[in-house]
Amino acid sequence: MKIISHITDMQRWSEARRLAGKTIAFVPTMGFLHEGHLSLVREGKKRGDVVIVSIFVNPMQFNQQADFATYPRSLEQDQLMLEEVGTDVLFYPNAPEIYPEGFQTAIEVDKVSQPLCGAFRPGHFRGVATVVAKLFNITKPHFALFGEKDFQQCVVIKRMVKDLNFDLEVLPMPTVREPDGLAMSSRNARLSPTERQTSLCLARALHRAQDLVAHGERQASSVLQAVQEIITGEGGVRIEYISLCHPETLEEVAEVSGPTLLALAVWVGDVRLIDNCVIR
Ligand code: AMP
Repeated sequence: MKIISHITDMQRWSEARRLAGKTIAFVPTMGFLHEGHLSLVREGKKRGDVVIVSIFVNPMQFNQQADFATYPRSLEQDQLMLEEVGTDVLFYPNAPEIYPEGFQTAIEVDKVSQPLCGAFRPGHFRGVATVVAKLFNITKPHFALFGEKDFQQCVVIKRMVKDLNFDLEVLPMPTVREPDGLAMSSRNARLSPTERQTSLCLARALHRAQDLVAHGERQASSVLQAVQEIITGEGGVRIEYISLCHPETLEEVAEVSGPTLLALAVWVGDVRLIDNCVIR
């Protein structure tokens, strides 16, 4: 696996692959990798001739300095994991490489950035869209793989790619879970053993909602109430939002008719966890 830190080197490498007729798959990450990330890399390997993974903890998408400072990092272990799944290039730039002095451009994806996480993390999707646009211009992929775990992020990036005519395909991939149902996340490492147990209420709530709809419930308010009861039944948990919304526009729905996204953000202690499912 080649490690590239400079933008121009990365662009040259990708351009050479393109000229040789190779297809490039790209997986952007913030590191501290787990099986969820690796599933994207494996899928990228299947779909492309070469796979580039980036690791960059993007300061622009953190609305709280403390969250950025405590975001877990482990480059050596990440490298080993990426080698093992056959990554061709790890793009690992530092912050001044991505945001040199004088940097002043940002991408705002309007409506779909506003609800859900956007309402509680001001500037988050502006930071995400801007860095992902830059990474697309740097790595020049044919496909980019994203996890549905961050469902709103997938919607925002798809919108940006369409609106700005990026010549690539966005491939959303299913959420990878621990055997007990907790969605894998780099932040899970910060949960205490008790909090780790408590955090299972997210997956349980998603199941309960799916079950209710499967048995004929259509009122969004009833489904949301059941979800809320399961989550507030646990001590040490605070709900940030629970939403039933359209999976493309992210507008809230009053009734579950057709595919509907159930999205949750919950604080377990001081760890913020998100999860979602599309109820069909
Ligand atoms: P992150 O490092 O958290 O920015 O995530 C990098 C990519 O991995 C994003 O596209 C995430 O949606 C994806 N990802 C994170 N956790 C999971 C998971 N449990 N299953 C599938 N994809 C994931």
